[in-house]
Amino acid sequence: MTAPGSAQADVTEGGPVPPNPARGLVCRNCGATFGLIAEHACAECFGPLEVDYDKDLMRAVTRQQIEAGPHNIWRYVALLPVGHDPADRVTLDPGMTPLVKADRLAAELGLTGGLWVKDDSANPTHSFKDRVVSLAATAAKNFGYAKIACASTGNLANSVAAHAARMGLPSFVFVPSDLEPGKITQSAVYGQALVAVDGNYDDVNRLTSELAETDEFEDTAFVNQNVRPYYAEGSKTMGYEIAEQLGWRIPAQVVVPMASGSLLTKVDKAWRELVAAGIVEDTGWKIFGAQSAGCDPIATAFDNGWDVVKPVKPTGIAKSLNIGNPADGPYALDAIRRTGGSVGRVGDDEIVQGIRDLARTTGVFAETAGGVTVAVLRQLVDKGLIDPAQEVVVLNTGEGLKTLDPLLPVVGPTHHVQPSLKSLREAGLIA
Ligand SMILES: *Cc1c(COP(=O)(O)O)cnc(C)c1O
Ligand SMILES: [Zn+2]
Repeated sequence: MTAPGSAQADVTEGGPVPPNPARGLVCRNCGATFGLIAEHACAECFGPLEVDYDKDLMRAVTRQQIEAGPHNIWRYVALLPVGHDPADRVTLDPGMTPLVKADRLAAELGLTGGLWVKDDSANPTHSFKDRVVSLAATAAKNFGYAKIACASTGNLANSVAAHAARMGLPSFVFVPSDLEPGKITQSAVYGQALVAVDGNYDDVNRLTSELAETDEFEDTAFVNQNVRPYYAEGSKTMGYEIAEQLGWRIPAQVVVPMASGSLLTKVDKAWRELVAAGIVEDTGWKIFGAQSAGCDPIATAFDNGWDVVKPVKPTGIAKSLNIGNPADGPYALDAIRRTGGSVGRVGDDEIVQGIRDLARTTGVFAETAGGVTVAVLRQLVDKGLIDPAQEVVVLNTGEGLKTLDPLLPVVGPTHHVQPSLKSLREAGLIA
Protein backbone atom coordinates (compact mmCIF):
# COMPACT_ATOMS: atom_id res chain seq x y z
CA MET A 1 0.00 0.00 0.00
CA THR A 2 1.27 3.46 -0.89
CA ALA A 3 1.26 6.23 1.72
CA PRO A 4 -1.52 8.74 1.18
CA GLY A 5 -0.40 11.92 -0.50
CA SER A 6 2.54 10.21 -2.21
CA ALA A 7 3.08 10.76 -5.90
CA GLN A 8 1.02 8.26 -7.84
CA ALA A 9 -0.14 8.38 -11.42
CA ASP A 10 -3.79 9.34 -11.66
CA VAL A 11 -4.97 6.69 -14.06
CA THR A 12 -8.17 8.57 -14.82
CA GLU A 13 -6.07 11.52 -16.01
CA GLY A 14 -6.40 11.81 -19.76
CA GLY A 15 -8.77 8.82 -19.72
CA PRO A 16 -12.54 8.97 -20.09
CA VAL A 17 -14.22 11.24 -17.53
CA PRO A 18 -16.99 9.24 -15.75
CA PRO A 19 -20.48 10.78 -15.87
CA ASN A 20 -21.57 12.82 -12.87
CA PRO A 21 -24.29 10.77 -11.12
CA ALA A 22 -25.53 13.84 -9.15
CA ARG A 23 -28.73 15.18 -10.67
CA GLY A 24 -29.63 17.79 -8.07
CA LEU A 25 -30.27 18.42 -4.38
CA VAL A 26 -33.20 16.98 -2.42
CA CYS A 27 -34.66 18.09 0.92
CA ARG A 28 -34.29 15.36 3.52
CA ASN A 29 -37.31 16.72 5.32
CA CYS A 30 -40.00 17.38 2.66
CA GLY A 31 -38.49 15.79 -0.47
CA ALA A 32 -38.50 19.02 -2.54
CA THR A 33 -35.90 18.86 -5.32
CA PHE A 34 -33.52 21.54 -6.60
CA GLY A 35 -30.74 21.82 -9.17
CA LEU A 36 -27.07 21.45 -8.23
CA ILE A 37 -27.05 24.80 -6.39
CA ALA A 38 -24.95 26.26 -3.58
CA GLU A 39 -27.54 26.02 -0.80
CA HIS A 40 -27.80 23.84 2.28
CA ALA A 41 -31.36 24.61 3.42
CA CYS A 42 -34.63 23.88 1.63
CA ALA A 43 -36.42 26.96 0.29
CA GLU A 44 -39.76 25.30 1.17
CA CYS A 45 -39.23 24.09 4.73
CA PHE A 46 -35.62 24.98 5.75
CA GLY A 47 -34.83 21.24 6.00
CA PRO A 48 -31.28 20.08 5.13
CA LEU A 49 -30.48 19.51 1.46
CA GLU A 50 -28.55 16.48 0.29
CA VAL A 51 -27.22 15.36 -3.08
CA ASP A 52 -29.73 13.38 -5.14
CA TYR A 53 -28.22 10.80 -7.52
CA ASP A 54 -29.23 9.10 -10.71
CA LYS A 55 -29.66 5.60 -9.27
CA ASP A 56 -29.09 3.90 -12.64
CA LEU A 57 -25.73 5.63 -13.12
CA MET A 58 -24.69 4.62 -9.58
CA ARG A 59 -25.79 1.03 -10.14
CA ALA A 60 -23.60 0.88 -13.27
CA VAL A 61 -20.39 1.42 -11.22
CA THR A 62 -18.19 -1.68 -10.89
CA ARG A 63 -15.41 -2.92 -8.62
CA GLN A 64 -13.03 -2.99 -11.59
CA GLN A 65 -13.74 0.65 -12.42
CA ILE A 66 -12.99 1.69 -8.82
CA GLU A 67 -9.87 -0.48 -8.54
CA ALA A 68 -8.44 1.09 -11.72
CA GLY A 69 -8.66 4.57 -10.14
CA PRO A 70 -6.03 6.56 -8.23
CA HIS A 71 -4.90 5.52 -4.74
CA ASN A 72 -7.04 8.18 -2.97
CA ILE A 73 -10.69 9.22 -2.55
CA TRP A 74 -11.02 10.04 -6.26
CA ARG A 75 -11.11 6.32 -7.11
CA TYR A 76 -14.79 6.61 -6.02
CA VAL A 77 -15.53 9.68 -8.15
CA ALA A 78 -18.23 7.84 -10.10
CA LEU A 79 -20.18 7.81 -6.78
CA LEU A 80 -19.46 11.47 -5.89
CA PRO A 81 -21.06 14.78 -6.96
CA VAL A 82 -17.92 16.77 -7.99
CA GLY A 83 -14.40 16.32 -9.39
CA HIS A 84 -15.17 14.03 -12.35
CA ASP A 85 -12.61 15.81 -14.49
CA PRO A 86 -9.30 15.67 -12.55
CA ALA A 87 -8.51 19.17 -13.84
CA ASP A 88 -11.46 20.53 -11.81
CA ARG A 89 -10.30 19.14 -8.46
CA VAL A 90 -8.98 21.19 -5.55
CA THR A 91 -7.51 18.53 -3.33
CA LEU A 92 -4.66 17.22 -1.23
CA ASP A 93 -5.61 13.74 -2.55
CA PRO A 94 -6.60 12.25 0.83
CA GLY A 95 -7.90 8.76 1.46
CA MET A 96 -6.90 5.10 1.15
CA THR A 97 -5.67 5.38 4.72
CA PRO A 98 -4.60 2.18 6.50
CA LEU A 99 -7.12 -0.33 7.82
CA VAL A 100 -5.11 -1.72 10.72
CA LYS A 101 -5.84 -5.18 12.16
CA ALA A 102 -5.88 -4.63 15.92
CA ASP A 103 -5.37 -8.18 17.21
CA ARG A 104 -3.83 -7.22 20.54
CA LEU A 105 -6.63 -4.78 21.40
CA ALA A 106 -9.17 -7.40 20.27
CA ALA A 107 -7.63 -9.95 22.64
CA GLU A 108 -7.74 -7.47 25.53
CA LEU A 109 -11.41 -6.71 24.92
CA GLY A 110 -12.35 -10.36 24.33
CA LEU A 111 -13.31 -9.77 20.69
CA THR A 112 -12.96 -12.98 18.73
CA GLY A 113 -14.64 -11.94 15.46
CA GLY A 114 -11.84 -9.57 14.40
CA LEU A 115 -11.15 -5.89 15.13
CA TRP A 116 -9.87 -3.26 12.71
CA VAL A 117 -8.94 0.40 13.11
CA LYS A 118 -9.55 2.65 10.12
CA ASP A 119 -6.72 5.12 10.68
CA ASP A 120 -7.56 8.49 9.17
CA SER A 121 -4.75 10.19 11.06
CA ALA A 122 -2.76 9.22 7.92
CA ASN A 123 -4.52 11.85 5.79
CA PRO A 124 -2.53 14.90 4.58
CA THR A 125 -3.66 17.21 7.43
CA HIS A 126 -4.03 14.25 9.79
CA SER A 127 -7.79 13.92 10.16
CA PHE A 128 -10.75 12.59 8.18
CA LYS A 129 -11.76 16.20 7.39
CA ASP A 130 -9.50 16.20 4.28
CA ARG A 131 -12.09 13.91 2.64
CA VAL A 132 -14.92 16.42 3.06
CA VAL A 133 -12.85 19.52 2.38
CA SER A 134 -11.53 18.12 -0.93
CA LEU A 135 -15.15 17.88 -2.10
CA ALA A 136 -16.13 21.28 -0.65
CA ALA A 137 -13.11 23.05 -2.16
CA THR A 138 -13.74 21.42 -5.53
CA ALA A 139 -17.41 22.50 -5.40
CA ALA A 140 -16.29 26.02 -4.40
CA LYS A 141 -13.99 26.24 -7.41
CA ASN A 142 -16.64 24.92 -9.80
CA PHE A 143 -19.22 27.40 -8.47
CA GLY A 144 -16.68 30.18 -9.07
CA TYR A 145 -16.33 31.38 -5.48
CA ALA A 146 -13.44 33.78 -4.75
CA LYS A 147 -12.76 32.58 -1.21
CA ILE A 148 -13.49 29.75 1.16
CA ALA A 149 -14.47 29.84 4.84
CA CYS A 150 -15.61 27.62 7.69
CA ALA A 151 -16.60 27.38 11.33
CA SER A 152 -14.60 24.59 12.90
CA THR A 153 -13.86 22.58 16.02
CA GLY A 154 -10.24 22.35 14.81
CA ASN A 155 -9.64 19.67 12.20
CA LEU A 156 -11.84 21.32 9.59
CA ALA A 157 -9.88 24.55 10.12
CA ASN A 158 -6.60 22.70 9.53
CA SER A 159 -7.87 21.17 6.32
CA VAL A 160 -9.60 24.25 4.88
CA ALA A 161 -6.50 26.41 5.43
CA ALA A 162 -4.29 23.77 3.78
CA HIS A 163 -6.60 23.32 0.78
CA ALA A 164 -6.85 27.11 0.36
CA ALA A 165 -3.06 27.37 0.40
CA ARG A 166 -2.79 24.63 -2.25
CA MET A 167 -5.44 26.25 -4.43
CA GLY A 168 -4.11 29.78 -3.97
CA LEU A 169 -7.42 31.21 -2.77
CA PRO A 170 -7.87 33.23 0.42
CA SER A 171 -9.56 31.42 3.31
CA PHE A 172 -11.24 32.60 6.50
CA VAL A 173 -11.30 30.06 9.26
CA PHE A 174 -13.30 30.66 12.46
CA VAL A 175 -12.58 28.60 15.59
CA PRO A 176 -13.37 28.74 19.32
CA SER A 177 -10.45 30.60 20.95
CA ASP A 178 -9.96 27.83 23.56
CA LEU A 179 -8.91 25.18 20.98
CA GLU A 180 -5.86 23.00 21.58
CA PRO A 181 -2.58 24.85 20.73
CA GLY A 182 -1.72 22.12 18.18
CA LYS A 183 -4.87 22.82 16.20
CA ILE A 184 -4.43 26.59 16.37
CA THR A 185 -0.83 26.33 15.11
CA GLN A 186 -1.70 23.85 12.38
CA SER A 187 -4.41 26.20 11.12
CA ALA A 188 -2.22 29.31 11.31
CA VAL A 189 0.87 27.91 9.61
CA TYR A 190 -0.73 27.94 6.14
CA GLY A 191 -0.66 31.74 6.23
CA GLN A 192 -4.41 32.29 5.90
CA ALA A 193 -6.85 34.28 8.05
CA LEU A 194 -7.53 32.46 11.34
CA VAL A 195 -10.18 34.09 13.51
CA ALA A 196 -10.28 32.94 17.15
CA VAL A 197 -13.75 33.63 18.58
CA ASP A 198 -14.47 33.86 22.31
CA GLY A 199 -17.32 31.35 22.32
CA ASN A 200 -18.05 27.67 21.69
CA TYR A 201 -18.48 26.04 18.26
CA ASP A 202 -22.22 26.68 18.19
CA ASP A 203 -21.53 30.41 18.79
CA VAL A 204 -18.91 30.38 16.01
CA ASN A 205 -21.30 28.63 13.66
CA ARG A 206 -24.05 31.19 14.35
CA LEU A 207 -21.54 33.99 13.68
CA THR A 208 -20.45 32.55 10.31
CA SER A 209 -24.13 32.10 9.29
CA GLU A 210 -24.63 35.82 9.89
CA LEU A 211 -21.36 36.64 8.12
CA ALA A 212 -22.46 34.69 5.04
CA GLU A 213 -25.30 37.19 4.62
CA THR A 214 -22.97 40.23 4.42
CA ASP A 215 -21.85 41.87 1.14
CA GLU A 216 -18.16 41.25 1.93
CA PHE A 217 -18.70 37.48 2.10
CA GLU A 218 -21.19 37.08 -0.73
CA ASP A 219 -18.40 35.60 -2.91
CA THR A 220 -17.45 33.02 -0.27
CA ALA A 221 -17.96 29.27 -0.14
CA PHE A 222 -18.79 28.38 3.46
CA VAL A 223 -17.68 24.79 3.70
CA ASN A 224 -20.32 23.72 6.23
CA GLN A 225 -23.05 26.06 4.98
CA ASN A 226 -23.68 26.88 1.29
CA VAL A 227 -21.55 24.00 -0.04
CA ARG A 228 -22.39 21.60 2.83
CA PRO A 229 -24.35 19.11 0.65
CA TYR A 230 -21.20 18.51 -1.44
CA TYR A 231 -18.87 18.63 1.58
CA ALA A 232 -20.86 15.99 3.45
CA GLU A 233 -20.65 13.47 0.58
CA GLY A 234 -16.87 13.28 1.09
CA SER A 235 -17.44 11.25 4.26
CA LYS A 236 -18.90 8.42 2.16
CA THR A 237 -15.37 7.61 0.98
CA MET A 238 -14.51 6.32 4.46
CA GLY A 239 -17.30 3.74 4.11
CA TYR A 240 -16.29 2.78 0.56
CA GLU A 241 -12.65 2.29 1.61
CA ILE A 242 -13.50 0.09 4.59
CA ALA A 243 -15.55 -2.19 2.33
CA GLU A 244 -12.87 -2.31 -0.37
CA GLN A 245 -10.03 -2.87 2.10
CA LEU A 246 -11.92 -5.81 3.64
CA GLY A 247 -12.03 -7.38 0.18
CA TRP A 248 -15.41 -5.88 -0.83
CA ARG A 249 -17.22 -6.83 2.34
CA ILE A 250 -19.13 -4.77 4.92
CA PRO A 251 -18.20 -5.34 8.57
CA ALA A 252 -20.97 -6.52 10.89
CA GLN A 253 -20.34 -3.67 13.35
CA VAL A 254 -18.76 -0.20 13.16
CA VAL A 255 -18.13 2.42 15.87
CA VAL A 256 -18.16 6.04 14.65
CA PRO A 257 -17.42 9.23 16.63
CA MET A 258 -20.14 11.88 16.36
CA ALA A 259 -19.93 15.67 16.34
CA SER A 260 -22.65 16.89 13.92
CA GLY A 261 -23.45 13.21 13.21
CA SER A 262 -22.76 13.61 9.50
CA LEU A 263 -19.89 11.11 9.19
CA LEU A 264 -21.98 8.36 10.78
CA THR A 265 -24.88 8.89 8.36
CA LYS A 266 -22.52 8.89 5.37
CA VAL A 267 -20.78 5.63 6.28
CA ASP A 268 -24.23 4.04 6.32
CA LYS A 269 -25.17 5.74 3.04
CA ALA A 270 -21.94 4.55 1.37
CA TRP A 271 -22.67 0.94 2.27
CA ARG A 272 -26.29 1.16 1.07
CA GLU A 273 -25.00 2.50 -2.25
CA LEU A 274 -22.44 -0.31 -2.62
CA VAL A 275 -25.19 -2.86 -1.94
CA ALA A 276 -27.53 -1.18 -4.46
CA ALA A 277 -24.75 -1.23 -7.07
CA GLY A 278 -24.22 -4.96 -6.46
CA ILE A 279 -20.59 -4.25 -5.52
CA VAL A 280 -20.94 -5.88 -2.08
CA GLU A 281 -23.36 -8.40 -0.62
CA ASP A 282 -25.97 -7.15 1.84
CA THR A 283 -24.78 -8.99 4.93
CA GLY A 284 -26.34 -6.41 7.29
CA TRP A 285 -24.47 -4.07 9.62
CA LYS A 286 -24.95 -2.31 12.94
CA ILE A 287 -23.78 1.26 13.41
CA PHE A 288 -22.71 2.45 16.86
CA GLY A 289 -22.20 6.13 17.72
CA ALA A 290 -19.61 7.49 20.15
CA GLN A 291 -19.80 10.75 22.11
CA SER A 292 -18.08 12.22 25.16
CA ALA A 293 -19.96 12.75 28.42
CA GLY A 294 -19.10 16.45 28.04
CA CYS A 295 -21.08 16.70 24.79
CA ASP A 296 -23.65 13.95 24.50
CA PRO A 297 -26.83 15.35 22.91
CA ILE A 298 -27.22 12.46 20.45
CA ALA A 299 -26.52 9.85 23.15
CA THR A 300 -29.17 11.45 25.39
CA ALA A 301 -31.75 11.48 22.57
CA PHE A 302 -30.97 7.81 21.86
CA ASP A 303 -31.33 6.80 25.51
CA ASN A 304 -34.67 8.59 25.83
CA GLY A 305 -36.08 7.38 22.52
CA TRP A 306 -36.37 10.96 21.22
CA ASP A 307 -36.45 11.74 17.49
CA VAL A 308 -35.15 15.26 18.09
CA VAL A 309 -31.89 16.25 19.71
CA LYS A 310 -31.88 18.72 22.60
CA PRO A 311 -28.86 21.07 22.38
CA VAL A 312 -26.26 21.07 25.19
CA LYS A 313 -23.37 23.34 26.19
CA PRO A 314 -20.23 21.28 25.43
CA THR A 315 -17.39 20.72 27.90
CA GLY A 316 -14.49 18.26 28.12
CA ILE A 317 -11.32 17.34 26.27
CA ALA A 318 -12.81 15.85 23.08
CA LYS A 319 -12.97 19.31 21.51
CA SER A 320 -13.18 18.14 17.90
CA LEU A 321 -16.53 16.51 18.80
CA ASN A 322 -17.86 19.45 20.82
CA ILE A 323 -20.91 20.40 18.76
CA GLY A 324 -23.77 21.00 21.21
CA ASN A 325 -26.44 21.41 18.51
CA PRO A 326 -25.67 18.66 15.97
CA ALA A 327 -27.21 19.34 12.54
CA ASP A 328 -27.36 15.67 11.53
CA GLY A 329 -28.33 14.34 14.97
CA PRO A 330 -31.82 13.10 13.95
CA TYR A 331 -30.42 11.40 10.83
CA ALA A 332 -27.65 9.75 12.85
CA LEU A 333 -30.31 8.45 15.28
CA ASP A 334 -32.25 7.06 12.31
CA ALA A 335 -29.25 5.13 11.00
CA ILE A 336 -28.33 3.80 14.44
CA ARG A 337 -31.89 2.65 15.19
CA ARG A 338 -32.56 1.25 11.71
CA THR A 339 -29.41 -0.90 11.83
CA GLY A 340 -29.93 -2.06 15.44
CA GLY A 341 -26.89 -0.21 16.81
CA SER A 342 -26.50 1.87 19.95
CA VAL A 343 -24.69 4.92 21.36
CA GLY A 344 -22.10 5.17 24.13
CA ARG A 345 -20.68 8.12 26.01
CA VAL A 346 -17.43 8.29 27.99
CA GLY A 347 -15.81 10.77 30.39
CA ASP A 348 -12.44 12.49 30.04
CA ASP A 349 -10.48 9.89 32.06
CA GLU A 350 -11.86 7.07 29.91
CA ILE A 351 -10.98 9.06 26.77
CA VAL A 352 -7.34 9.37 27.87
CA GLN A 353 -7.38 5.65 28.70
CA GLY A 354 -8.81 4.91 25.25
CA ILE A 355 -5.98 6.84 23.58
CA ARG A 356 -3.39 4.96 25.68
CA ASP A 357 -5.02 1.55 25.10
CA LEU A 358 -5.00 2.02 21.33
CA ALA A 359 -1.41 3.28 21.28
CA ARG A 360 -0.15 0.53 23.61
CA THR A 361 -1.85 -2.31 21.74
CA THR A 362 -1.70 -1.25 18.07
CA GLY A 363 0.93 1.49 17.66
CA VAL A 364 -1.73 3.98 16.54
CA PHE A 365 -1.73 7.35 18.31
CA ALA A 366 -5.22 8.87 18.15
CA GLU A 367 -6.47 12.30 19.05
CA THR A 368 -9.14 12.67 21.73
CA ALA A 369 -11.93 11.76 19.26
CA GLY A 370 -10.21 8.39 18.68
CA GLY A 371 -9.94 7.97 22.45
CA VAL A 372 -13.71 8.49 22.67
CA THR A 373 -14.32 5.81 20.03
CA VAL A 374 -12.02 3.20 21.57
CA ALA A 375 -13.40 3.84 25.08
CA VAL A 376 -16.98 3.57 23.76
CA LEU A 377 -16.04 0.31 22.03
CA ARG A 378 -14.91 -1.06 25.41
CA GLN A 379 -18.12 0.15 27.05
CA LEU A 380 -20.39 -1.38 24.38
CA VAL A 381 -18.55 -4.72 24.63
CA ASP A 382 -18.88 -4.66 28.45
CA LYS A 383 -22.61 -3.95 28.17
CA GLY A 384 -23.08 -6.80 25.69
CA LEU A 385 -24.28 -4.42 22.97
CA ILE A 386 -21.42 -5.35 20.63
CA ASP A 387 -21.26 -9.00 19.65
CA PRO A 388 -17.67 -10.14 20.36
CA ALA A 389 -17.97 -13.01 17.87
CA GLN A 390 -18.64 -10.62 14.96
CA GLU A 391 -16.21 -8.33 13.20
CA VAL A 392 -15.86 -4.72 14.40
CA VAL A 393 -14.31 -1.67 12.71
CA VAL A 394 -13.55 1.44 14.80
CA LEU A 395 -12.77 4.78 13.19
CA ASN A 396 -9.75 6.78 14.30
CA THR A 397 -10.58 10.15 12.79
CA GLY A 398 -7.58 12.22 13.91
CA GLU A 399 -3.90 12.29 14.90
CA GLY A 400 -2.75 12.24 18.52
CA LEU A 401 -0.07 14.91 18.05
CA LYS A 402 -2.89 17.42 17.55
CA THR A 403 -4.20 16.98 21.10
CA LEU A 404 -1.18 16.39 23.34
CA ASP A 405 -2.54 18.50 26.21
CA PRO A 406 -4.52 15.87 28.16
CA LEU A 407 -1.62 13.41 27.88
CA LEU A 408 1.15 15.70 29.13
CA PRO A 409 0.29 15.17 32.82
CA VAL A 410 -0.06 11.38 32.52
CA VAL A 411 2.65 10.10 30.16
CA GLY A 412 6.34 11.01 29.91
CA PRO A 413 9.81 9.53 30.29
CA THR A 414 9.80 6.39 32.45
CA HIS A 415 13.38 7.02 33.56
CA HIS A 416 15.62 10.08 33.81
CA VAL A 417 19.35 9.41 33.83
CA GLN A 418 22.82 10.93 33.37
CA PRO A 419 24.85 9.72 30.34
CA SER A 420 26.67 6.96 32.28
CA LEU A 421 26.16 3.25 32.95
CA LYS A 422 26.39 4.08 36.64
CA SER A 423 23.33 6.26 36.29
CA LEU A 424 21.49 3.54 34.33
CA ARG A 425 22.39 1.09 37.12
CA GLU A 426 21.05 3.46 39.76
CA ALA A 427 17.88 3.81 37.73
CA GLY A 428 17.46 0.01 37.84
CA LEU A 429 17.83 -0.49 34.07
CA ILE A 430 20.88 -2.79 34.48
CA ALA A 431 22.25 -4.82 37.35
C1 LIG B 1 -15.32 16.50 12.68
C2 LIG B 1 -14.81 15.30 13.38
C3 LIG B 1 -15.62 14.17 13.64
C4 LIG B 1 -17.10 14.07 13.44
O1 LIG B 1 -17.66 14.68 12.41
P1 LIG B 1 -19.21 14.83 12.12
O2 LIG B 1 -19.33 14.43 10.72
O3 LIG B 1 -19.50 16.29 12.36
O4 LIG B 1 -19.98 13.97 13.08
C5 LIG B 1 -15.01 13.05 14.19
N1 LIG B 1 -13.71 13.04 14.50
C6 LIG B 1 -12.92 14.11 14.30
C7 LIG B 1 -11.50 14.02 14.70
C8 LIG B 1 -13.43 15.26 13.71
O5 LIG B 1 -12.60 16.30 13.49
ZN1 LIG C 1 -37.94 20.87 2.48
